[in-house]
Amino acid sequence: MGYEVQRRGAIAARIRSRWYLAAVGCLLLLLVGCNLLLKPPATISVHLALGNPSNATASPLSPDNYLMVKPEYTLSYNNSKRIPNWVSWQLNESWLGTVRRSNDFRPDDQLPAEWYRVLPTDYNGSGFDRGHLAPSGDRTNTPDANSATFLMTNILPQSKANNQGPWQQLESDCRSLVRQGKELYIVAGGYGKKRVLTKGSIVVPAYTWKVIVVLDRLNAGSRAINEQTRVIAVSVPNFEGIRETDWQTYRVSVDAIEAATGYDFLTNVPVGVQAVLERRVDTQ
Ligand code: MN
Ligand code: MN
Repeated sequence: MGYEVQRRGAIAARIRSRWYLAAVGCLLLLLVGCNLLLKPPATISVHLALGNPSNATASPLSPDNYLMVKPEYTLSYNNSKRIPNWVSWQLNESWLGTVRRSNDFRPDDQLPAEWYRVLPTDYNGSGFDRGHLAPSGDRTNTPDANSATFLMTNILPQSKANNQGPWQQLESDCRSLVRQGKELYIVAGGYGKKRVLTKGSIVVPAYTWKVIVVLDRLNAGSRAINEQTRVIAVSVPNFEGIRETDWQTYRVSVDAIEAATGYDFLTNVPVGVQAVLERRVDTQ
C-alpha cells in the first residue's frame, strides 16, 4: 500500500516536471518570437540605421506609406501622390566610383502589380525635371547601383531652378564631405502640393527637404552620434527663380521639417541627443 502511494507520487511528479519543462519551453519560444517581431526596422537595411521616419511597412494595405527596401536606398512610396514620401540612404566612400550616369529612367516593377507605375514620359512637357532624391552621383560604384537611382520611385517633379541650383550644390557638397572621410545618412522628400501633373496625376510638392547627418566614424550608424554631431537640414521652395541662391539660405532645424511633414527623424538616437540635434540649425 505504502509502496503504491509512493509510486503514484513519483509518477505525478514526473508528469508535473514534464508540464513544467513544456511551459518553460513555450515561454522561451514566445520571448524569442516577440523579440524578433519587436526588433527595430533599422535591422532591415543599412539605409534605415537612424530610423524609419514614417513607420512605413512593406504591405500593399498601406499604399500611401509603402516601404521599399533596395540595396542602394530605402523609401516610403505614396501611391496616391505617385511620388516617394521620403528616400533614405547611406553615403560613404564605398558608394563612390567612376561609373557614368546611366540615365535609364524607368518604371519600378517592384510596386504591387495593380498599382499605377509612373512612366518617365509622364514628366514630358510638364516644365519639371525628373528630380532624383538619392542622386545618381551618390551611386557610382557599380553600373547596377547607378541604374537603381533612375527608378521612378526615387523621382519627384522638381523645378529646374531648385534641382539644378541649390539642390545640386548641396548634393555636391555632401560628396565633398565624404571625400574628406565622413559618412553621411541622408533622408529627402517633398511636402505640400504645388499642383498635379496632367499625365500620371503626379503631385508636385511645394518644397523639397533634406536631413543630412554627418559622422566621423564609419559603419557605426547611430552609435557614432552624439550632441556635437553635425546635422544639416534644408527646406527648398520648388519654384523657379532660385537657381543662383546658395543652399545655405534654406537651412532650417530638423524640428521644422518634422512639423511640416509629420515624420519623426533620428528615432534610433537617444531622445535627449535627438532633442539637441533637432532644434539646432547648421551654421558651418
Ligand atoms: Mn537632381
Ligand atoms: Mn525626431
